[in-house]
Amino acid sequence: MKAVVYHEPYSVKVEDVPDARIEDPNDVVIRITTTAICGSDLHMYEGRTGAEPGIVFGHENMGVVEEVGPGVARIRKGDRVVLPFNVGCGFCKNCLAGKTGFCLTVNQGFAGGAYGYVSMGPYRGGQAEYLRVPFADFNCLTLPAGEQHEDDFALLADIFPTGYHATELAGVSPGETVCVFGAGPVGLMAAYSALLRGASRVFVVDRQPDRLALAERIGAIPIDYSKGDAAQQIKDQTGGEGTDKGIDAVGYQATVQEGEEQPAIVLNTLIETVRATGALGVVGLYVPADPGGPSESAKHGELLVKMGRFFEKGLRMGTGQANVKQYNRQLRDMIIAGRATPSFVVSHRLPLAEAPEAYDHFDKRDPGWTKVLLKPDL
Ligand code: NAD
Ligand code: ZN
Repeated sequence: MKAVVYHEPYSVKVEDVPDARIEDPNDVVIRITTTAICGSDLHMYEGRTGAEPGIVFGHENMGVVEEVGPGVARIRKGDRVVLPFNVGCGFCKNCLAGKTGFCLTVNQGFAGGAYGYVSMGPYRGGQAEYLRVPFADFNCLTLPAGEQHEDDFALLADIFPTGYHATELAGVSPGETVCVFGAGPVGLMAAYSALLRGASRVFVVDRQPDRLALAERIGAIPIDYSKGDAAQQIKDQTGGEGTDKGIDAVGYQATVQEGEEQPAIVLNTLIETVRATGALGVVGLYVPADPGGPSESAKHGELLVKMGRFFEKGLRMGTGQANVKQYNRQLRDMIIAGRATPSFVVSHRLPLAEAPEAYDHFDKRDPGWTKVLLKPDL
């Protein structure tokens, strides 16, 4: 079967790999209909994670069940499903508590599993024609049959629940003001989720005009940080107080783009922007391994965070991978009911064969390349 294979930094190719197959009785194999490229793939693509050549990327997957293992009870051949990017077992302490991003079974007890992601277990990615799904009864979210809402449902694998998770980590309540740093797909989903949760005003910070325009389209207030200090711009619009809640949807990316050794830019700006006793939700990734990085400490994701200021303001912070399963059923039902249309973020629908060009454009943040969906059937 064809799949997107990582070769070296800034190089992926679409090649033949061994077919996905049932390996354990509780597996299913999915024929992929839609799979997305994520900002998280770029950490590997840019060579910052020590990903081995030969890895098949792709953790945002949906499709139709093609083959069912003998131990699967709930899922049937022909079911249309979306796969939360987290691979969970369903029976460990963390999965039982809903913390499926941190499954203790699938990856030798280390910080959860995912498809096609370095250090997240042995699971191949779904930027391919087929995908093996382990613990399939637990890991498949079933969808209405047919082709309706394909692009909205595809975003249930990661970025819609991740954006929602950011608002949950920050504890966004109706009527509150929120700032979201990063207008990439994840930041836009966080802003959209904050508005769904009834936030009164949502500020979205970036410097890319096309992405800021999308933020404005959904009813958020765009803040261009290249035109002046973002914290000050937001304070000026909130009576000097800052926002009630704040979200980091940038992560490590900012430190690399700015070329500084340990700037922790976004977190420190958030600490300044959020009012005293507010809270931060951090879903931007702070990559813990950086073989090509500028310093030894950067390899461990160390950053100079203004802890004194954080303490002085009595702030709280939640971090981590999204526990997609905690939200994706409800978010699916909002899509079905016509109450949410996250696909406003999708800019490109391309055949799998065009993945190398798509990675190149998305990695460069070329204007208009917001979210790429790959469709093996095209
Ligand atoms: P992205 O890299 O396209 O988006 C990042 C955006 O941040 C870009 O638009 C960029 O212009 C902007 N940016 C850069 N520096 C900035 C700064 N200093 N201030 C404000 N904005 C700045 O990718 P994405 O797909 O939106 O992903 C964003 C982050 O979320 C990545 O780190 C990704 O790994 C992470 N992520 C986390 C989870 C999770 O479960 N926690 C899931 C998916 C993605
Ligand atoms: Zn993703």
